[in-house]
Amino acid sequence: MNEQISFILDIQNIDLEFLKFEESLKKIYNEIEELRNGIDLKKTEYEKLNEDLTELNKKISGTEVEIKTFDDKLNKMKDTQKLIKTNKEYNALQKSIKDTETLKKKAEGELIMLAESQTALNDKINLIKKESEDMQVSLSSKDAELKNKEKEFELSKEDFLKRRDAAKNKIKKSYLDVYETIKIRKGFPAIAPVLQSGACTGCYRMLPPQQFNELISENVFMQCPICSRILYIESVPQETVAESAPHSPKTSKKTGKAKA
Ligand SMILES: [Zn+2]
Repeated sequence: MNEQISFILDIQNIDLEFLKFEESLKKIYNEIEELRNGIDLKKTEYEKLNEDLTELNKKISGTEVEIKTFDDKLNKMKDTQKLIKTNKEYNALQKSIKDTETLKKKAEGELIMLAESQTALNDKINLIKKESEDMQVSLSSKDAELKNKEKEFELSKEDFLKRRDAAKNKIKKSYLDVYETIKIRKGFPAIAPVLQSGACTGCYRMLPPQQFNELISENVFMQCPICSRILYIESVPQETVAESAPHSPKTSKKTGKAKA
Protein backbone atom coordinates (compact mmCIF):
# COMPACT_ATOMS: atom_id res chain seq x y z
CA MET A 1 0.00 0.00 0.00
CA ASN A 2 1.07 3.52 -0.71
CA GLU A 3 2.82 4.69 2.43
CA GLN A 4 0.96 8.00 2.50
CA ILE A 5 -2.37 6.16 2.29
CA SER A 6 -1.44 3.99 5.25
CA PHE A 7 -0.44 7.10 7.25
CA ILE A 8 -3.80 8.70 6.45
CA LEU A 9 -5.50 5.49 7.58
CA ASP A 10 -3.47 5.62 10.79
CA ILE A 11 -4.58 9.15 11.56
CA GLN A 12 -8.18 8.27 10.77
CA ASN A 13 -8.02 5.30 13.16
CA ILE A 14 -6.63 7.56 15.88
CA ASP A 15 -9.35 10.14 15.23
CA LEU A 16 -12.03 7.45 15.30
CA GLU A 17 -10.70 6.12 18.58
CA PHE A 18 -10.90 9.63 20.04
CA LEU A 19 -14.38 10.15 18.62
CA LYS A 20 -15.53 6.88 20.20
CA PHE A 21 -14.27 8.12 23.54
CA GLU A 22 -16.01 11.45 23.15
CA GLU A 23 -19.22 9.69 22.18
CA SER A 24 -19.11 7.40 25.18
CA LEU A 25 -18.69 10.49 27.38
CA LYS A 26 -21.58 12.20 25.62
CA LYS A 27 -23.73 9.12 26.14
CA ILE A 28 -23.13 9.26 29.91
CA TYR A 29 -23.82 13.04 29.94
CA ASN A 30 -27.14 12.38 28.21
CA GLU A 31 -28.06 9.57 30.58
CA ILE A 32 -27.32 11.83 33.54
CA GLU A 33 -29.39 14.62 32.03
CA GLU A 34 -32.27 12.21 31.45
CA LEU A 35 -32.10 10.94 35.04
CA ARG A 36 -32.03 14.50 36.41
CA ASN A 37 -35.11 15.41 34.37
CA GLY A 38 -36.84 12.22 35.50
CA ILE A 39 -36.08 13.00 39.15
CA ASP A 40 -37.42 16.54 38.74
CA LEU A 41 -40.64 15.18 37.25
CA LYS A 42 -41.02 12.70 40.11
CA LYS A 43 -40.46 15.51 42.59
CA THR A 44 -43.21 17.64 41.03
CA GLU A 45 -45.54 14.65 40.99
CA TYR A 46 -44.68 13.84 44.61
CA GLU A 47 -45.44 17.41 45.72
CA LYS A 48 -48.74 17.43 43.85
CA LEU A 49 -49.85 14.13 45.40
CA ASN A 50 -48.90 15.36 48.86
CA GLU A 51 -51.05 18.44 48.32
CA ASP A 52 -53.92 16.12 47.33
CA LEU A 53 -53.29 14.07 50.47
CA THR A 54 -53.41 17.16 52.68
CA GLU A 55 -56.77 18.09 51.11
CA LEU A 56 -58.05 14.56 51.59
CA ASN A 57 -56.94 14.45 55.24
CA LYS A 58 -58.81 17.72 55.84
CA LYS A 59 -61.97 16.17 54.36
CA ILE A 60 -61.53 13.06 56.53
CA SER A 61 -61.14 15.17 59.70
CA GLY A 62 -64.21 17.21 58.73
CA THR A 63 -66.27 14.08 58.20
CA GLU A 64 -65.09 12.59 61.51
CA VAL A 65 -66.12 15.78 63.31
CA GLU A 66 -69.49 15.60 61.53
CA ILE A 67 -70.06 12.00 62.70
CA LYS A 68 -69.10 12.98 66.25
CA THR A 69 -71.63 15.84 66.12
CA PHE A 70 -74.36 13.44 64.99
CA ASP A 71 -73.45 11.06 67.84
CA ASP A 72 -73.67 13.86 70.41
CA LYS A 73 -76.99 14.95 68.97
CA LEU A 74 -78.36 11.39 69.10
CA ASN A 75 -77.24 10.92 72.72
CA LYS A 76 -78.87 14.15 73.71
CA MET A 77 -82.11 13.21 71.95
CA LYS A 78 -82.12 9.79 73.61
CA ASP A 79 -81.73 11.50 77.02
CA THR A 80 -84.63 13.82 76.21
CA GLN A 81 -86.73 10.82 75.25
CA LYS A 82 -87.05 9.83 78.92
CA LEU A 83 -88.55 13.19 79.85
CA ILE A 84 -91.19 13.26 77.11
CA LYS A 85 -94.82 13.18 78.16
CA THR A 86 -97.02 13.44 75.05
CA ASN A 87 -97.27 11.14 72.06
CA LYS A 88 -96.87 14.04 69.69
CA GLU A 89 -93.57 15.06 71.24
CA TYR A 90 -92.45 11.44 71.21
CA ASN A 91 -93.23 10.98 67.53
CA ALA A 92 -91.47 14.23 66.60
CA LEU A 93 -88.37 13.16 68.50
CA GLN A 94 -88.44 9.70 66.91
CA LYS A 95 -88.46 11.37 63.50
CA SER A 96 -85.52 13.60 64.43
CA ILE A 97 -83.55 10.58 65.69
CA LYS A 98 -84.24 8.68 62.48
CA ASP A 99 -83.21 11.66 60.31
CA THR A 100 -80.00 12.15 62.28
CA GLU A 101 -79.17 8.45 62.04
CA THR A 102 -79.65 8.60 58.26
CA LEU A 103 -77.30 11.58 58.05
CA LYS A 104 -74.76 9.81 60.25
CA LYS A 105 -74.88 6.70 58.06
CA LYS A 106 -74.32 8.80 54.97
CA ALA A 107 -71.29 10.49 56.60
CA GLU A 108 -69.91 7.11 57.63
CA GLY A 109 -70.22 5.86 54.05
CA GLU A 110 -68.33 8.94 52.85
CA LEU A 111 -65.64 8.32 55.44
CA ILE A 112 -65.08 4.79 54.18
CA MET A 113 -64.70 6.06 50.62
CA LEU A 114 -62.34 8.82 51.74
CA ALA A 115 -60.25 6.31 53.69
CA GLU A 116 -59.99 4.11 50.58
CA SER A 117 -58.81 7.09 48.54
CA GLN A 118 -56.31 7.89 51.27
CA THR A 119 -54.84 4.37 51.12
CA ALA A 120 -54.59 4.51 47.34
CA LEU A 121 -52.96 7.93 47.46
CA ASN A 122 -50.47 6.84 50.11
CA ASP A 123 -49.53 3.81 47.99
CA LYS A 124 -48.97 6.08 45.00
CA ILE A 125 -46.85 8.47 47.05
CA ASN A 126 -44.73 5.62 48.41
CA LEU A 127 -44.24 4.22 44.93
CA ILE A 128 -43.08 7.56 43.56
CA LYS A 129 -40.78 8.03 46.51
CA LYS A 130 -39.27 4.60 45.85
CA GLU A 131 -38.90 5.29 42.13
CA SER A 132 -37.30 8.62 42.87
CA GLU A 133 -34.85 7.02 45.31
CA ASP A 134 -33.95 4.34 42.75
CA MET A 135 -33.30 7.05 40.16
CA GLN A 136 -31.15 8.89 42.66
CA VAL A 137 -29.06 5.74 43.15
CA SER A 138 -28.70 5.36 39.38
CA LEU A 139 -27.70 9.00 39.14
CA SER A 140 -24.99 8.59 41.76
CA SER A 141 -23.55 5.59 39.97
CA LYS A 142 -23.71 7.40 36.61
CA ASP A 143 -21.95 10.38 38.16
CA ALA A 144 -19.22 8.06 39.41
CA GLU A 145 -18.99 6.40 35.99
CA LEU A 146 -18.65 9.82 34.36
CA LYS A 147 -15.90 10.88 36.75
CA ASN A 148 -13.94 7.69 35.99
CA LYS A 149 -14.44 8.07 32.28
CA GLU A 150 -13.36 11.72 32.39
CA LYS A 151 -10.26 10.76 34.33
CA GLU A 152 -9.50 8.01 31.83
CA PHE A 153 -10.08 10.51 29.03
CA GLU A 154 -7.71 13.05 30.58
CA LEU A 155 -5.03 10.38 30.98
CA SER A 156 -5.28 9.06 27.44
CA LYS A 157 -5.62 12.49 25.85
CA GLU A 158 -1.91 13.25 26.03
CA ASP A 159 -1.01 9.90 24.55
CA PHE A 160 -3.65 10.39 21.90
CA LEU A 161 -2.30 13.81 20.93
CA LYS A 162 1.23 12.44 20.81
CA ARG A 163 0.23 9.58 18.54
CA ARG A 164 -1.82 11.91 16.39
CA ASP A 165 1.06 14.34 16.00
CA ALA A 166 3.38 11.50 15.06
CA ALA A 167 0.95 10.26 12.44
CA LYS A 168 0.27 13.78 11.22
CA ASN A 169 3.94 14.58 10.72
CA LYS A 170 4.33 11.70 8.29
CA ILE A 171 1.56 12.91 6.01
CA LYS A 172 2.18 15.31 3.14
CA LYS A 173 0.69 18.70 3.98
CA SER A 174 -1.58 18.79 0.93
CA TYR A 175 -2.94 15.28 1.68
CA LEU A 176 -3.48 16.16 5.31
CA ASP A 177 -5.40 19.27 4.31
CA VAL A 178 -7.66 17.16 2.10
CA TYR A 179 -8.20 14.68 4.93
CA GLU A 180 -9.04 17.37 7.48
CA THR A 181 -11.39 19.17 5.08
CA ILE A 182 -13.33 16.02 4.20
CA LYS A 183 -13.47 15.04 7.86
CA ILE A 184 -15.11 18.38 8.68
CA ARG A 185 -17.42 18.47 5.67
CA LYS A 186 -18.46 14.81 5.47
CA GLY A 187 -17.51 13.27 8.78
CA PHE A 188 -16.07 9.76 8.88
CA PRO A 189 -14.83 8.05 6.87
CA ALA A 190 -12.66 10.68 5.26
CA ILE A 191 -10.62 7.91 3.67
CA ALA A 192 -12.77 5.08 2.38
CA PRO A 193 -11.98 1.67 0.88
CA VAL A 194 -13.12 0.85 -2.62
CA LEU A 195 -14.96 -2.45 -3.07
CA GLN A 196 -13.85 -5.14 -5.54
CA SER A 197 -16.82 -4.06 -7.63
CA GLY A 198 -15.27 -0.60 -7.99
CA ALA A 199 -17.75 1.15 -5.68
CA CYS A 200 -16.58 3.84 -3.25
CA THR A 201 -17.71 2.85 0.26
CA GLY A 202 -18.11 6.52 1.14
CA CYS A 203 -20.94 7.16 -1.31
CA TYR A 204 -21.52 3.68 -2.85
CA ARG A 205 -21.22 5.01 -6.37
CA MET A 206 -19.10 3.29 -9.00
CA LEU A 207 -15.75 4.78 -9.87
CA PRO A 208 -15.02 5.27 -13.58
CA PRO A 209 -13.25 2.02 -14.69
CA GLN A 210 -10.08 3.80 -15.66
CA GLN A 211 -9.77 5.42 -12.24
CA PHE A 212 -10.50 2.13 -10.52
CA ASN A 213 -7.80 0.35 -12.54
CA GLU A 214 -5.35 3.09 -11.75
CA LEU A 215 -6.15 2.76 -8.06
CA ILE A 216 -5.69 -1.01 -8.14
CA SER A 217 -2.38 -0.89 -9.92
CA GLU A 218 -0.87 2.13 -8.21
CA ASN A 219 -2.90 2.73 -5.07
CA VAL A 220 -1.98 6.36 -5.44
CA PHE A 221 -3.51 9.25 -3.58
CA MET A 222 -6.89 9.62 -5.22
CA GLN A 223 -10.22 11.15 -4.32
CA CYS A 224 -13.70 9.90 -5.21
CA PRO A 225 -15.00 12.07 -8.08
CA ILE A 226 -18.44 12.03 -6.46
CA CYS A 227 -17.99 12.35 -2.69
CA SER A 228 -14.36 13.60 -2.64
CA ARG A 229 -13.30 11.02 -0.07
CA ILE A 230 -9.74 9.73 -0.24
CA LEU A 231 -9.79 6.23 -1.72
CA TYR A 232 -7.77 3.09 -1.15
CA ILE A 233 -7.91 -0.59 -1.96
CA GLU A 234 -8.44 -2.48 1.25
CA SER A 235 -7.05 -5.91 0.45
CA VAL A 236 -3.56 -4.75 -0.45
CA PRO A 237 -1.28 -5.97 2.37
CA GLN A 238 0.43 -3.44 4.60
CA GLU A 239 4.00 -4.25 3.43
CA THR A 240 5.26 -3.22 0.06
CA VAL A 241 3.77 -5.85 -2.16
CA ALA A 242 6.81 -6.40 -4.34
CA GLU A 243 9.06 -7.19 -1.39
CA SER A 244 6.81 -9.34 0.68
CA ALA A 245 4.84 -11.09 -2.00
CA PRO A 246 6.78 -14.37 -2.20
CA HIS A 247 6.73 -15.18 1.51
CA SER A 248 3.99 -12.96 2.82
CA PRO A 249 2.25 -14.40 5.89
CA LYS A 250 -0.88 -12.56 4.86
CA THR A 251 -2.60 -14.96 2.56
CA SER A 252 -5.55 -12.70 1.84
CA LYS A 253 -6.53 -11.84 -1.70
CA LYS A 254 -3.88 -9.74 -3.31
CA THR A 255 -5.59 -7.20 -5.43
CA GLY A 256 -2.36 -5.26 -5.60
CA LYS A 257 -0.65 -8.00 -7.58
CA ALA A 258 -0.42 -5.77 -10.59
CA LYS A 259 1.70 -3.27 -8.76
CA ALA A 260 5.24 -3.02 -10.12
ZN1 LIG B 1 -17.47 8.35 -3.03
